[in-house]
Amino acid sequence: MLPDPVAMIGQLIATPSVSSPDARFDQSNRGVVDLVAEWASELGLSVRIEALPGESGKVNLIAALGEGDDGLVLSGHTDTVPYDAERWTDDPFTLIERDGKLFGLGTADMKGFFAAALHALARFEPSSLRRPITLLGTADEESTMDGARALAEAGERFGRYAIIGEPTGLQPVRKHKGVFYVQVSVHGKAGHASNPALGVNAIDGLQLILPALQTWRDRIGQRHRDADFEVPTPTLNFGRVSGGDSPNRICAECTLDLDIRLLPGMEREAVTAELRDVVAHALDGGAWGFDVRAVGGHADAFSGPSDAAFSGAVETLCGCSAKAALFGTEAPYLAQLGLQTLVLGAGDIAVAHQPDEYVTIAAIERATDLYANLIQHFCIESP
Ligand SMILES: [Zn+2]
Repeated sequence: MLPDPVAMIGQLIATPSVSSPDARFDQSNRGVVDLVAEWASELGLSVRIEALPGESGKVNLIAALGEGDDGLVLSGHTDTVPYDAERWTDDPFTLIERDGKLFGLGTADMKGFFAAALHALARFEPSSLRRPITLLGTADEESTMDGARALAEAGERFGRYAIIGEPTGLQPVRKHKGVFYVQVSVHGKAGHASNPALGVNAIDGLQLILPALQTWRDRIGQRHRDADFEVPTPTLNFGRVSGGDSPNRICAECTLDLDIRLLPGMEREAVTAELRDVVAHALDGGAWGFDVRAVGGHADAFSGPSDAAFSGAVETLCGCSAKAALFGTEAPYLAQLGLQTLVLGAGDIAVAHQPDEYVTIAAIERATDLYANLIQHFCIESP
């Protein structure tokens, strides 16, 4: 017997699975995967747990009912973001039920998804499925996307259609932007502040770069536009400037950190090369050196399923049309596997990554109904 959805979410919340690029916070997701694997086995799914390369303690879960690659995939990540315990009203790892809301770290993003997906699956006799259903549980979505990347690299096509159960307020999401970080470093030469000729001031170089990048940002915004997005242009944010050590020394080195968000169809490499040209041009004629390099992870933009019949069927089942989102997901990796992919799940992205994150019991129930309807449609009824 499966635990009821609330008890299930309680157990998942009580099993920490924080992922973070900062090793001090990073944890294994094995405990969460083991729980989901156990419940999936009880429902008759065949379960594989695959370790990610290296000794990270991170695993992906692949649980399937039926064989072949023409079925439906329900996918979620098993990790959560780090938390700030003192800003939570209650312990983030103890599920609190209040006014129909379930509070806890990962309730909306996205441990609640597994309860909804498993309970949707539980409504079907395995023998009634004409096409397979696969439940994926990935590692490290919140940090590196290494779990989804490992699946994409392995190249196993799990099905024809995929739903990622990230919190979308149960409205399907068919596209989102991509994000990556770039660091621009300006190299000068230190010297005594009393005479500018004794060095090359890196901050002087940076102040030529900033207006050039602002102009470039405007130009890119005119060239690329997608009215589906609340912010219809790509964005470039000046996030951090650092450099220098003392007022009486010529600054030898400074860096600028940028967050760049691209529309679907824009190429990260091409944009980075253009940015490098803008910086080179701005510093032209000076004695500065410079570097432009991508730092940290990145998330690709997602342009939506090409199969209009799939989007249409999901929109009909949801009773609303698909939208564009500003947050990133693992959808590009599943799309790389040839899966027609949409994002659809219970909970509000606005409460994710926050203290007192919650999902309502009503939303979990509605997600369960929706996933069951999707299974009925794509694994039993449709030809
Ligand atoms: Zn998420």
